[in-house]
Amino acid sequence: MADETEKPAATVAPLRKAVPCPICSRPSAREHYPFCSNRCRDVDLNRWLSGSYVIPVADGEDKAEDDEM
Ligand SMILES: [Zn+2]
Repeated sequence: MADETEKPAATVAPLRKAVPCPICSRPSAREHYPFCSNRCRDVDLNRWLSGSYVIPVADGEDKAEDDEM
């Protein structure tokens, strides 16, 4: 499968643009994409858990103990 047509060298983009870490704006690491480190991933996770982000929760696992019948 050699389908290598002439590539416009100027417009070819790198695999994936390095996305700045949403937490600290540093370049993200591949292993922790889109974050730069495990720590920032943790921070983000915490934000989710603390409700900074709006997410539709369908499971209601959290409310289980509070809303038990
Ligand atoms: Zn970061």
